[in-house]
Amino acid sequence: MRTPVPGPIGRQYLARQIERESNARSYPRRLPIAVRRAEGTLVEDVDGNVYLDFLSGAGVLSLGHNHPDVVAAVTRQLSVFTHGLDLPTPVKDRFTELQLEMLPEAMRRRMKVHFCGPTGANGVEAAIKLCKIATGRDNIVAFQGGFHGSTAGAMAVTGNREARAGVGNGMPGVHFFPFSSCLRCPLGLQPDSCETNCATYLERSLADSHGGVEKPAAVLLELVQGEGGSVPATPRFARRVREITARAGIPLIVDEVQTGCGRTGTWFAFEGYGIEPDVVVASKALSGIGLPVAILLYDRALDKWAPGAHIGTFRGNQLAFAGGVAAIEVVRRDNVLLNVRERAAQLRQRLERIGKRSRWVADVRGAGLLLGMELADPDNGADGAQFARAVQGAALRNGLILEVGGRSDATLRFMPPLTVTQVEVDTAASLLEQAFREVDPGFAPALDSSSSGTAASDG
Ligand code: PMP
Repeated sequence: MRTPVPGPIGRQYLARQIERESNARSYPRRLPIAVRRAEGTLVEDVDGNVYLDFLSGAGVLSLGHNHPDVVAAVTRQLSVFTHGLDLPTPVKDRFTELQLEMLPEAMRRRMKVHFCGPTGANGVEAAIKLCKIATGRDNIVAFQGGFHGSTAGAMAVTGNREARAGVGNGMPGVHFFPFSSCLRCPLGLQPDSCETNCATYLERSLADSHGGVEKPAAVLLELVQGEGGSVPATPRFARRVREITARAGIPLIVDEVQTGCGRTGTWFAFEGYGIEPDVVVASKALSGIGLPVAILLYDRALDKWAPGAHIGTFRGNQLAFAGGVAAIEVVRRDNVLLNVRERAAQLRQRLERIGKRSRWVADVRGAGLLLGMELADPDNGADGAQFARAVQGAALRNGLILEVGGRSDATLRFMPPLTVTQVEVDTAASLLEQAFREVDPGFAPALDSSSSGTAASDG
């Protein structure tokens, strides 16, 4: 028997948090639980409720919570050496070697590594700085719907206006171009008959001497827009952006902070698109256990910046390196990327079946285990933000942690650990069905027995 969510003890933690912590806190507003402990895909709150975690620390916990092999490696490192600025150490050397090894073969010798301050946003700032210095140019092209972080420069290249409300323009010279977000085409076209006009618009604007867009220092692309609502670039769009930038001599930065380290079924999302970027930003899942670390992988031709051009005290987190080495060993040993592809197909199929049963589901999309379900009012097409919130709340009460995102927060997002099992995916889908049953009076009965799943849905 579950206690209410939040339970009596959780409520006390949350009340103290509201009293003491910043108004800018975010997750506990929608996911009001206080966590006692976690293991694998499971999280237990302080009242003893257990949840399936399909948020995974916003994509950080790629191997689930507290993976034993990663815990062992980090624990060993803890008594050896913990903080090393950017001095070389054995564990850092191995981490660096493995990061390069994980790149497609053709890129390994071409790329160098820079250790950034330990957040995704810091990595994005570093990538922008690298390209500005290397090209001597200062504009950046970014895409509508993209998210890149909460520091001044990263906010300036983020599509979401709300994210920088009240702060103003943190970095001049940013041009936003349309992304291949086909459910609501930014150019008002139909995906089956368009010619990837969003990429054509970029191409022509850059070439147009009267187009008002200076040649940029870089084009910054999030191949699967995570916070933007799990929106994957179409393959043709991604390839054309690569062609356009390569032809014009503009470095292409891919922000793989959320997509990296296996989330989309390849080590980096760009591999799935068959493109080779010039700069890769990676962070979240690098350590495999939530220890902060961020890196750039970039073409040596861009290595023009001066000694100390992007420094930071916390660039030498040896615990994160130890975790990262162990995490890659686990990914290789356990064929985790294959699991991502298989579980992604399973989850997607279950979400699509739910989509057939609820008129609120406007789209099921994503790549690998970075999936989204966009909700819209079936009667007037208005965004389904309130409905998404209601499903999220019902899912939580039933034992499933989900995030919402995208425009108006109308998209349910599914980001389980990459090690999620078949049974866990099945159970999560059944818990989601239960949530739909509770909030959507028109939710149709299952068409066949296999889609209403496990005991968890009815228990
Ligand atoms: N880029 C992307 C694609 C992200 O998803 C995020 C975080 N959600 C960031 C950058 C910023 O990372 P951080 O919060 O670690 O600064």
